[in-house]
Amino acid sequence: MFYDVYKAWRENLSQYPAEAFEAGDVLRALNRDRLDRLDLLALLSPAAQPYLEEMAQKAHRLTIQNFGRTISLFTPLYLANFCSNRCAYCSFNAQNQITRRQLSLEEVEQEARAIAGTGLQHILLLTGESRQKSGPEYIEACVERLRPHFASIGIEVYPLEEEEYRRLYEAGVDAFTMFQEAYDEDIYAEVHLAGPKRNHRYRMEGPERACRGGIASVNIGALLGLGEWRTESFFTALHAEYLQKHYPDVEVSISMPRLRPHVGTFQPVASPVTDPVLVQIMLAYRLFLPRVGLTLSTRESPELREDLLPLGVTRMSAGSLTSVGGYSEGTETGSPQFEIADDRPVDEIVKMLRTKGYQPTFCDWVNMRERTPALRQSTAK
Ligand code: SF4
Repeated sequence: MFYDVYKAWRENLSQYPAEAFEAGDVLRALNRDRLDRLDLLALLSPAAQPYLEEMAQKAHRLTIQNFGRTISLFTPLYLANFCSNRCAYCSFNAQNQITRRQLSLEEVEQEARAIAGTGLQHILLLTGESRQKSGPEYIEACVERLRPHFASIGIEVYPLEEEEYRRLYEAGVDAFTMFQEAYDEDIYAEVHLAGPKRNHRYRMEGPERACRGGIASVNIGALLGLGEWRTESFFTALHAEYLQKHYPDVEVSISMPRLRPHVGTFQPVASPVTDPVLVQIMLAYRLFLPRVGLTLSTRESPELREDLLPLGVTRMSAGSLTSVGGYSEGTETGSPQFEIADDRPVDEIVKMLRTKGYQPTFCDWVNMRERTPALRQSTAK
């Protein structure tokens, strides 16, 4: 299990302080075809900061080699915002006084028609994390309603059992997103104040259960700004490396979400992730894992999303709303989970991508399905 890798590195990481890496370590990493974990640490270290341009050139080359100039587009659909957890950084925190809502199946279909009308074929379903209010049966019923409208359906919900992932896979789910939020267990305990989400290990093993349940595409990440960013980025990359190695037929990708304004007063203080830091993290991911997908969401501004495009991005959200419902009305209709920074409609994102020489992709699900066995066993020991 990845948890064992995580534990071993947690104990050993203090042997490799970021300040100990030098320019020579960065140059060695830049000149290698296959990077090891010390190379990754070098690229995340302060010594790499003068070499961001060289890293960007190599990242661009590797991305074109492995993905061409295509960007896969998707949008989130919030089915509900009930939640049993108290995450300090999220508007849906069970203690926040917001309007709680869950879409009926008829409303789900209305939303589906509105989203499909934009041309998007990849959708990501979110529910908040309440097993009581939005159980697997509800998600499955929504997926059945959505299937005729979309080529690919992803889920970003509370951690499930392997058998539940398999059931959702059979209902039509082929993609999965789960952010660990904080790999650092102490920080994780500090910001997850109550609820089942406090189980750090169960969440960390969610992506492996999803892979074994047959899901074809798995997206992970840390919520940048919670823990110390070098450590969080290092463990995110190790996690993606582990999944690629042990589930070679799964398409593995990483998101780089930064904390956004939300209901509540929590502000990250320990480790701010500035724009140059975000660039360094993204370049380190690309150089360490040339075949991993990199997802950039509407949390980032239009200008930054465009600047980051050539550095390794393979997937972007577009036309996103982060409240429950709203697509059929054309606007946010309740409390958003967080504020988005890029609110351009889908057709503007498509135009921008074409202008910059990229091919927006609405549908690549056929390949994923063909590569997905119904039952998948890890080769993990
Ligand atoms: S981050 Fe997820 S689990 Fe935490 S409060 Fe928000 S919706 Fe609930």
